[in-house]
Amino acid sequence: MIYQPKFNLGDKVFHIINLQRPEFVECPMCKGMKTISINGETDRCPKCYGRGGDQTWVSEGWRVARYGREDRETRIILEFGFEQLTICQIRLEHTKGSFPEWTVMCKETGVGSGTIHQMGHLFETVEEAQSACDKLNSDSLT
Ligand SMILES: [Zn+2]
Repeated sequence: MIYQPKFNLGDKVFHIINLQRPEFVECPMCKGMKTISINGETDRCPKCYGRGGDQTWVSEGWRVARYGREDRETRIILEFGFEQLTICQIRLEHTKGSFPEWTVMCKETGVGSGTIHQMGHLFETVEEAQSACDKLNSDSLT
């Protein structure tokens, strides 16, 4: 088997991200009351340990990554054009019985220490990246 990466060093690519937002799910036992009362005795809810529920992460779907910064006053994330990355490091991990896993580090997000990107989440054009997002998003709905 000859390994052939989808991209090479120095290639400029667009990447896709899956945003997650925190959501609080109320405890089904105490209904968020944090305590339970039985026979006139009240104690900490044994299911949520008095937290009233749990925080989970909800996917907001895949989209093409953009440059952005948070406005200090409104806390709203302002977004600009699509973020382009330059591939500076490529790694391949292939264990017997699994698919080859290509990962990439980029000049813009740190090489050595920084973000590790899956090569499968990188695309040559915004259009390709967008159609990959559309496919991932429609798959997750079915
Ligand atoms: Zn509870």
